[in-house]
Amino acid sequence: MQFLSIPGQAKEKKQLVTQVDQDRVPHAQILLGRPGSPKLAIALAYACYILCLDRKNGDACGVCKSCLKSMQYKHPDLHFAFPVISKEGKKREDTTSQDFLDKWRLAVAENPYMDLQAWSQYIGAEKSQPNINTRECNDMIKQLGMRSFESPYKIQIIWLPEYLGKEGNRLLKMIEEPTDNTFIILVAENQERILNTVISRCQLTKISPVSDEDAKEYISSRNPSINPEILSQAVQMSDGDLHKAMSIALGSSVDYSELLLSWMRLSYKRDFSELNNWITMLNSKGREDIKHFIEYAMSFMREYAFFLQTEDVSRLSESQQATAKNMTKIMDMLKVESVAKLLQEALRDIMRNVNPRICLMAKSIELGDILRSKDQVKSLYDM
Ligand SMILES: [Zn+2]
Repeated sequence: MQFLSIPGQAKEKKQLVTQVDQDRVPHAQILLGRPGSPKLAIALAYACYILCLDRKNGDACGVCKSCLKSMQYKHPDLHFAFPVISKEGKKREDTTSQDFLDKWRLAVAENPYMDLQAWSQYIGAEKSQPNINTRECNDMIKQLGMRSFESPYKIQIIWLPEYLGKEGNRLLKMIEEPTDNTFIILVAENQERILNTVISRCQLTKISPVSDEDAKEYISSRNPSINPEILSQAVQMSDGDLHKAMSIALGSSVDYSELLLSWMRLSYKRDFSELNNWITMLNSKGREDIKHFIEYAMSFMREYAFFLQTEDVSRLSESQQATAKNMTKIMDMLKVESVAKLLQEALRDIMRNVNPRICLMAKSIELGDILRSKDQVKSLYDM
């Protein structure tokens, strides 16, 4: 991984590169960022840069002997620890990241922005909670106590140290007094779930979420045929979570903006036969798409409220601008609040496995009532 393949984050990249260039890399540090932020990608690029034999313009060269290994996550001096479950035929206490290294390499190459949920699916851990166990900690300590193989440096990346739990205590000495030229990089998303004794021994760097513009550019450069409207909806819904934006943009062929407009129109008209068809259509796409549709509607309501208060359309796509302008005829701030609450309830129901047809029909009737209340309405029919 090179820094140049990671969208945005200019400040963070510069800070890390300067540390290496000035030979001031801290022995232990935490890269902290929300799920879907590029913290793991940055840790990988940073490790690659440290190990590179021919650093150029603030980035790893990408072609030296060392880079070729780092970029396949196979450098003998670059070690990984991450949450796992027991491997088939092995006890959990005997299983470590080493047993899942091949899968890890594939998963990271495919998507360095993945979250724990995606990783859990990847290793078939839907039913058990992955974690980092005692054996793993002991192996790390042993590994880092040995001499390096090829580079003068040894690097240990620990992805999601939140899942160390109390085992983190075992690593304190290693973090506090590592052997020479050893760098420990914790890649974390929730500071509160890491032992204070660990945090206090590490230098902390916060990694910001990806901006909407950077996310759009990143996804479209990798998927040139993607529909720009769907891409922009997916990015808006994801609030800086690149993993989520990608999975929505690539996994869905649904134009949520169209879908939202037709839902509001049919609910307002109380056209139950058409509403029924609409629900059947959405339901056929599966629970995940229903959830995404509701999340889209929620994000649209937030942007619409912003537009109502400021008349600033810059955060809306072209088709959303048209929808928003039409909606001013029937929806004021009070109604936005009621609809937002309705959507929150719908999302909660869908996540709790309530029958989607029943939930959507009930919410459609409620939506119709909200839209018709205190009729300031001209007409929705010409939307
Ligand atoms: Zn290189």
